Amino acid sequence: MIQLYQPLNFMGMVYREIKQAVTDIEAMFQILDRNPEIQDKPDAPALAVNGGAIRFDNVTFAYDPARPILKGVTFEVPAGKTVAIVGPSGAGKSTISRLLFRFYEISGGRITIDGQDIREVTQGSLRHAIGMVPQDTVLFNDTIRYNIRYGRWDADDAEVEAAARLAQIHEFIRHSPEGYETEVGERGLKLSGGEKQRVAIARTILKSPPILVLDEATSALDSHTEREIQGALDKVAENRTAIVIAHRLSTIVGADEIIVLDGGRVAERGTHGELLARGGLYAGLWNRQREAAEAQEKIAGLDRGV
Ligand code: ADP
Ligand code: MG
Repeated sequence: MIQLYQPLNFMGMVYREIKQAVTDIEAMFQILDRNPEIQDKPDAPALAVNGGAIRFDNVTFAYDPARPILKGVTFEVPAGKTVAIVGPSGAGKSTISRLLFRFYEISGGRITIDGQDIREVTQGSLRHAIGMVPQDTVLFNDTIRYNIRYGRWDADDAEVEAAARLAQIHEFIRHSPEGYETEVGERGLKLSGGEKQRVAIARTILKSPPILVLDEATSALDSHTEREIQGALDKVAENRTAIVIAHRLSTIVGADEIIVLDGGRVAERGTHGELLARGGLYAGLWNRQREAAEAQEKIAGLDRGV
């Protein structure tokens, strides 16, 4: 009897450990890198990336059938271009990034990469092609070096450190108790949200994938660090296909196209200039953020006695 129960106990322990280490389902998929309910088709081929053009074709989706989240979303990210997705919180922006990874099955429509339906290719090859900096990064209970190298296992130490420098985390690591060998996570050094984001950015720079998804990747950073890292991220996005989900609109004014998502539908689309001229939802968001930023600057000025 004891013999029989032992594996179950062990599984329970592993389960508890995983549960403890993750904060939400997105993070769990990130760690397990798959949703066990989603299976590859028998003999599914690998995704053949050629430029990495992404297409969402009338995509519908619901986590819970009673509550539709995406209600027919269509957009395209041409190979090598950057498309930004903006919109109010809860609009379904992060959901779009999870669907591209096939963490969930869509209920209608089609998602393709270079013309291949993502349901027809192996999940491994799909995720290999995409580098994601998620909203909330969860680190492995391992060294900082391991956490960055996860982006590409065959990277040598010099490459890991070069990526860390670009992500503005090298100096922080150098001053950690054991440098790159410092253990992080639940049982190790606790990193702030911004530090974790920079580790995730370093990981993605190292992975150097053909397709990049940044989900509010710099939201936990102060505006100075954000500006510094933005440069590194822009460099990674150069000549790659990128979806950039942004809260701070100032970071995406240069996008080739901006999609405004509202209530699970594409409400507006266009370049920054076109959307401002339109005077709709985007222009409203932009003006509100600009006013808030100006008010902030005034307060900072008063603090300095200007
Ligand atoms: P955004 O990134 O635009 O803020 P999300 O895509 O995260 O929005 O979420 C869209 C909607 O889906 C929200 O109403 C959210 O509460 C809901 N949602 C997100 N994740 C889940 C989940 N795992 N299960 C059920 N509902 C979810
Ligand atoms: Mg989100």
